[in-house]
Amino acid sequence: MTSLALNIAIKLIRRESPTPEDAGCQNYIESLLAPLGFVRTSVDTAGITNSIYSRIGELKGTLAFAGHTDVVPTGPIEAWTHPPFEAVVEDGPDGATLHGRGTQDMKGGIACWLAAIATLCAQQTPLPTLQLLITSDEEGDSIDGTIRIVEYMQENNTLPDAVIVGEPSCSEKVGDTIRRGRRGVVQARITFLGKQGHSAYPQDADNAIHRAAPALARITDIDWGKAAEGFPATSCQITNFNAGTGASNVIPGTAEAFLDIRYNPGNHFEQIKSLIEAACEKTEVSYNFDHVATAFSTPDGIFLDTICTSIKRITGIDTLRDTGGGTSDGRFIAAAGVAVAELGLTNSTIHQVNECVATHELDTLTAIYSDIIEHFEV
Ligand SMILES: [Zn+2]
Repeated sequence: MTSLALNIAIKLIRRESPTPEDAGCQNYIESLLAPLGFVRTSVDTAGITNSIYSRIGELKGTLAFAGHTDVVPTGPIEAWTHPPFEAVVEDGPDGATLHGRGTQDMKGGIACWLAAIATLCAQQTPLPTLQLLITSDEEGDSIDGTIRIVEYMQENNTLPDAVIVGEPSCSEKVGDTIRRGRRGVVQARITFLGKQGHSAYPQDADNAIHRAAPALARITDIDWGKAAEGFPATSCQITNFNAGTGASNVIPGTAEAFLDIRYNPGNHFEQIKSLIEAACEKTEVSYNFDHVATAFSTPDGIFLDTICTSIKRITGIDTLRDTGGGTSDGRFIAAAGVAVAELGLTNSTIHQVNECVATHELDTLTAIYSDIIEHFEV
């Protein structure tokens, strides 16, 4: 028997939607949600398809699900065992597997949330107010996606109490891991300024590498303080260093270092910037700082407890409340002061050739989502 979640996942995967395409996914989602009483608001920006679907509930509080309909490129099509947009279901000794781009990241997750809602509505279960925040700009620049949805909701005073981001958070089994925060990212380009000259006449030159070396040593020695609870320590890596003309007898006039800093919520952008500037103090430099992603952390409390209790009820698993991995759209929502947690399928094949998911995972995640919605409290 094909489950509702599997059916929906197949329909979404067959809509070929590499970033920033939506390929009709959000219209299809509307066709499923409108009969359940959801109203769609389009927040399309710069060619990106963004939708807010909302349904006023019978219970207190507003719970939102956030996700994306775009997928990463397939890579070489001929390397795929099953065509990436055909959504082939293949039976195997351990059950069936759904193949295709977006099965794990994250059309499968969206399908589970939709299936959970459809079943709860059909059973006339009293529900909180529900929202789905869906963008087609997550895998690309993320400039006109979730951030625009959040801005719209802030302007209209419709921000939810809590958001589940359907990114594939789990490693071995559905429910083993949720992400309750992410590290932030700061990147910096530092140009050390000296004066080019002949190496036989150092008195007439100013070696930019000699200026850079002690400053970079001080940067690698920066004490970033105590990490926020549940987070790894802040890490600052010098990832590129360029200087010299290639000639052995020319003192370089400039040197350029590139820093990549992954910080925990115990640090913040302005502080990071001033610590680096202090390390370069007596050196002539020019900077270019880029706050690529803001760190966020949802504290322990009723929201995370509800999620973990639902997972335990459905699967028996004690869930890890993790903060690892790269960055996600959760940061835009958390920045608006909303509690955010990521919970989705396993992530064993995301962005890979032959992305796929075991169909029993879809059933498990649907059951977990359904339990969370039913037990949501503010
Ligand atoms: Zn994703």
